Amino acid sequence: MCEPFQQATSWPRLPQLPTRLLLAEEAFGKIYSLRQFRHLATQVLHGFEQLLLTFPVPRRGFGGPQALGELPAAPSSPNRDRGVYAMKFTPVTFLLIPAMLVAQQTSNNPVPVEEEPLHKIVLKNEAVIIMHLILPPGERTLFHTHTHDRIAVSLSNTSVTNQQMNEAESAPAPTKPGDISALTLADASYTHRVHNVGKVPFDVLDIEPTVRPVTPSADVAGPVAAETPSARVYSWFLAPGATSPMHTHTRPYIILSITAMNLKMASPDVQSAGHEVVAGDFKFIDAKTTHNLSNAGTTPGQIIEVELK
Ligand SMILES: [Zn+2]
Ligand SMILES: [Zn+2]
Repeated sequence: MCEPFQQATSWPRLPQLPTRLLLAEEAFGKIYSLRQFRHLATQVLHGFEQLLLTFPVPRRGFGGPQALGELPAAPSSPNRDRGVYAMKFTPVTFLLIPAMLVAQQTSNNPVPVEEEPLHKIVLKNEAVIIMHLILPPGERTLFHTHTHDRIAVSLSNTSVTNQQMNEAESAPAPTKPGDISALTLADASYTHRVHNVGKVPFDVLDIEPTVRPVTPSADVAGPVAAETPSARVYSWFLAPGATSPMHTHTRPYIILSITAMNLKMASPDVQSAGHEVVAGDFKFIDAKTTHNLSNAGTTPGQIIEVELK
C-alpha cells in the first residue's frame, strides 16, 4: 500500500494521483549519482586550456580582472578564464591549433544554459528544466543564455560574482545554503557568467519553468519567499520536532531539501514514515497535494518548494 514515488518525467501525464502517493515513501531522487560524470567536459576543456597557455591567441570577450601583464609567471592550476601569455611553439602545438581555436570559440561565445558544460540537466519535462551547477573555486562558467524565468537555490557557502555580457563583473556576493535567487526575464533572454571567488565549490540548483502562464494560479500554499511570473517559492525552516502548517499545492511543484534531515510528510488522512534526505535531494510532484512537513530528526532542517504558477 505504500507505493513509492516515481520520478515524473512528462508532466502533465499523471493528472490525479491518489493522495497516498503524494507522501514520500522513499527518499527524494538523488542528484549525486550524476556528479561522477559531470567533470568530463571540464577536464577536456582544461586540457585545451593548458595547451592554450602555450599559444598567444588573444581571447575575445576577456572581461575578468586579470589583464595580460598582471598574470603570474606560470599557472598554478587550470582556469578557463586565464589569459594567454606564455609562448612556446613546437610542432605539436601547431598540430593542435584547430582544436585550440574550437576550444577558444567555445569559451567566448555565449551558449544556451543547457549546453554550458558545468550545468548538468538533472530533470527535464514539459513543465520544468532543473540544472545542477557545481562551479569549482576560482572558476567561471562560460557566458550562457537563459531563455526562461529561473529560480536558483544555493547549496553551498561561498562567494560569487555575476557578469552580464559586455558589462563589468559585479562585486563578490556571499551565498549560503538555502539562498534563493529569482530571475525574471526582462527581455527574451539573459546572458551572463558566474565566477566563484570563494574557497569551496559553488553548488546550486537552477529551476526553470518552461512556461510563463498568461493567467497565473491564484492559489498560494504559504508565505512566499520569492517569485517570478512563472513560479512561487516557499521556504520552510523546521527545528527538530517542528511541523509546517498543512498546505495545498494546486500546481506541480519541486520539493528540495537544503539540509540533511529526517523528513516526514503527512496528508489529512495518511502519515508517512520518516525519510533521511540529504542536501540537494529533490523531487518533482505533478499532482495536487495537501500535506505538511515535519523534521523528525535532531538537527535543524530547511525545505524549499518551488511551485509552478
Ligand atoms: Zn546562469
Ligand atoms: Zn508543500
